[in-house]
Amino acid sequence: MTVRTKPPESPAAKPPSYAAVPPRLIGGHLALDFANTLSLRGAVAEPRDRLVDYRELLLWAGAAGLLSKSEARQLQREAQARPDAADAVLEAAKALREATARLLDPALAGGPAELRLLNEALARAPARDRLVARKPGYAWRLDGEAEPLERPLWPVLWAAAELLTSAERERVRACASDPCRWLFLDLSRNRSRRWCSMEDCGNRAKARRHYARSKSR
Ligand SMILES: [Zn+2]
Repeated sequence: MTVRTKPPESPAAKPPSYAAVPPRLIGGHLALDFANTLSLRGAVAEPRDRLVDYRELLLWAGAAGLLSKSEARQLQREAQARPDAADAVLEAAKALREATARLLDPALAGGPAELRLLNEALARAPARDRLVARKPGYAWRLDGEAEPLERPLWPVLWAAAELLTSAERERVRACASDPCRWLFLDLSRNRSRRWCSMEDCGNRAKARRHYARSKSR
C-alpha cells in the first residue's frame, strides 16, 4: 500500500502570502479559523505565523468573507496612510488571536488575563444596535467611534464571544497531530474527529503507522 503524504512543514520556512496560498478554513467556525492563522502552535521550534503584516490580515478577512474587495482596498489605502496604526492593529489582532485560542483550546488554560484582553477588544468595537438590509442579505449597523483599521477583527471578536458562551464550545478540539494543533469544531456524530484534515495531518499519521507496521514485520 502506498500512502501519499507531504513532507512535514519546516517551521523555519517563510510562510507564503494568503494572496498566493489562500487560508484553509477548516475550523468550522470563524474564531477557530482565525486562531489557525498561526500554525504549529504545538511546535518545539517557532510556530508559523501567516499574519506577517496588515495586508495579510486583510487578505485573510477577504478569504473568510468578512470584507468585500472594495472594503479591503479601502482599508489597505488607510493602512498605507497610517502605517503605525496598522502595525498596532496587527499586534492587537495577534494578541486577540492568542487570547481566544487559549480560551477555546481545551488543552490551553486561558484565564482572567485572556478574558480581560477579549473584553477590552469588545469594548473598543462599535455597538451593533440594529440590522439593516444589504444586497445580498442583512448586516449590522455599527455605531460609535472605533478605529476603522480594526474592522476585520470585529466579526472575529463577536464570533469568539458567541462560541465561548455557547454549548458548541465543548466541541472545540485541537488537531491530534503535535505540532499542528489547529483548532476545529468537532461536528461528527460520535465526536471522533481527530485531525484538522484527513488529507494533511490525518494522512501523515496514517503513513507513520504504516511505516511503523512495516518495520515491525
Ligand atoms: Zn493538523
